[in-house]
Amino acid sequence: MNRRMILYRGSLKSCNYHCSYCPFSRHPMSERELARDREQWFSFVRTLERQRRGIRALMVTPYGEALIHPWYWEGLGRLSALPEMDAVGAQTNLSFPIEEFLTRFREAGGVLGKLRLWATFHPEMTEPEVFAGRCRRLAETGVRLCAGCVGAPDHLEQFQELKSKLPPEVYLWINQMDGLNRPYTERELEAFLELDPYFMQEVLPAEADVGLCGQRLFAEGDGRLRTCNISPVLKEKWTETGEPEFPAPICRRKYCSCYLAYGGRQDWVGHMLFGPYPLFRIPRRPRAVFLDVAGTLTPGHGKKDGGKTPDRTLAALKALAGEGTALFFATTLPYREAMERCRQIRSLFRGGVFAGGAHLLLREPGGIEGKPLQEHFEFLDRFCGSYLEDLKSLERQFGFRLMTCRRGDLCYKITLLRPARRPWENREAEAVFDCLRDKEKESGGAGRSGLSGPGDVRYLIEENCLQILPAQADKAGGVKTLCRWMGIRPSEAFAFGDSPEDREMTALCGE
Ligand code: SF4
Repeated sequence: MNRRMILYRGSLKSCNYHCSYCPFSRHPMSERELARDREQWFSFVRTLERQRRGIRALMVTPYGEALIHPWYWEGLGRLSALPEMDAVGAQTNLSFPIEEFLTRFREAGGVLGKLRLWATFHPEMTEPEVFAGRCRRLAETGVRLCAGCVGAPDHLEQFQELKSKLPPEVYLWINQMDGLNRPYTERELEAFLELDPYFMQEVLPAEADVGLCGQRLFAEGDGRLRTCNISPVLKEKWTETGEPEFPAPICRRKYCSCYLAYGGRQDWVGHMLFGPYPLFRIPRRPRAVFLDVAGTLTPGHGKKDGGKTPDRTLAALKALAGEGTALFFATTLPYREAMERCRQIRSLFRGGVFAGGAHLLLREPGGIEGKPLQEHFEFLDRFCGSYLEDLKSLERQFGFRLMTCRRGDLCYKITLLRPARRPWENREAEAVFDCLRDKEKESGGAGRSGLSGPGDVRYLIEENCLQILPAQADKAGGVKTLCRWMGIRPSEAFAFGDSPEDREMTALCGE
C-alpha cells in the first residue's frame, strides 16, 4: 500500500468530441497553445526520467482529450520503459487511431503490459457497439482498461447495452452525476448497481483524511503541484526545482468528492477492490479476502464501537461477495466473539482464521450460516493439565483473569485479561513465562510443557490481553490452509490488517 503514484494534467483544454454538457468541447486550442501543452508534457516527462522520487505509476487526467495528440503516446512510452515504473495510463474517450498510436507508443520504447486506459463512454458521441468494439480491440492487444460513464439516468438503456457488449473482463464504472441536483431514486440506484457493483463507493460520502494521502501527487502542466486534484497548491514550480523529496500532503477539504480524489488514498478498501494503483480503476477481483476484525472491520481494541462497520466498507464487502469473492475473517478473536462483533456483516463471510490461527473454518458458499466444509483446531494440549493451574495461581500477582477457548476438553487459546487501563508489556509477559518455568522445575517436571525450549507456544500482546497460542498457529499459516482447501493460490487473495500480527499474512497475499 506504499506505492507512489502521480497524476498529470497539462494545459490542454480541448476535445475532438462535442458533448452538450462539456465546457472543453467549445474551446478550440490554437497551434501555439497546443505547442505549449506539448512542451509542458515533455518537461514533466524529463523531470520524472531524471528524478523518480519513488513514483511508480502515472496517469494523465486531461481537461479534454489528450490521446489524440501523438506526443502523449511518446511520453507514456518513454515513461513505461523505466524499469521502476509499474504502470502508465490516461483517461480517454478512445477516439484515437488504435494501431497507429500503439505503434508510436512501442516506438518510444513503450511496454504494452504497463499501459492502462480509463475509457469514458460519451452517449451523445458514440454508439455502445462502436465503443465496446474499441474496448475489445484494445483488450485483445493486451492493453488493460476500464470503461465507464457519468450516471445520467436518461442514458441508462445505452449503458445497459454497452455493458452487454463489453468483454467480461472490462469493468464498467458509473460516476455519480454531479449535475443531477437530486438524489438517485431507489430504482435508479438498483439499476446502476446492477451495472457497476462498486457504485456505492461513488454515492456514499468519503470523508477527507489527509493521513491517507502521503504517497500521491497531482502535477499540472505549469509546474504546480498538489496532493490531489482538489487540494491546494503545494509547490509552484515543481518540475524545474528537481527537489528529490516527496512533499508532505496538504488538504482543506471536508470530503474527497470524486474518484480521482478518494481513489488515490492509501485506503485498504480501494486496494482490495482495485489493487496497488486504484486510480486506474481496473478491478483486482480477488478470489478470496482475509480481513482482521478489530481496527479493520470494526473499531480497534478498547474503542467504544457497537461493532459498526463503516458504510463504504460494508458496501465494498457486499459488492465483492455478490461477485463471488469468498470473504474470511482473520482475527485473534475466537469464533464466537468475532461473530458477535461482526453481526452486521457476518452473513457475507464464509468462515475464517480465528484465535490467531488456532481455529480455521471454511463453510460452503452462502455465508457463515452455511454448512462447515472444513474445520481444524490447533490445540495447546500441554497447557490443559497442571499448567492452567499454574497460570491461575499467577492471576493475583500479575493482575489478570485467565480465560480459555476450548473445543471439548482441549484448549486452543488462553487469554490473560487485564483491565483496559493496564496494558501488558513484553517484560511482564516474559516474567509470566519465567514463573511458569520455575513452577515446572519445582514440581520436578522440566520439559513437560516445552516452555524451557523452543516450540510449543507463542504469545502476543493486544493491549490489555496477553494471548497464548500454539506456536505453529498464526494468521499467515491459516490463510495458506484456507486457500489450499479452496484450491486457490494465496497470490489470488487479498488480506489486510493493521497489527504486526497481520504483516506476514498481507505479504503472503501480495499487494
Ligand atoms: S481531498 Fe484530496 S488531499 Fe484531501 S483527503 Fe481527499 S484525496 Fe486526500
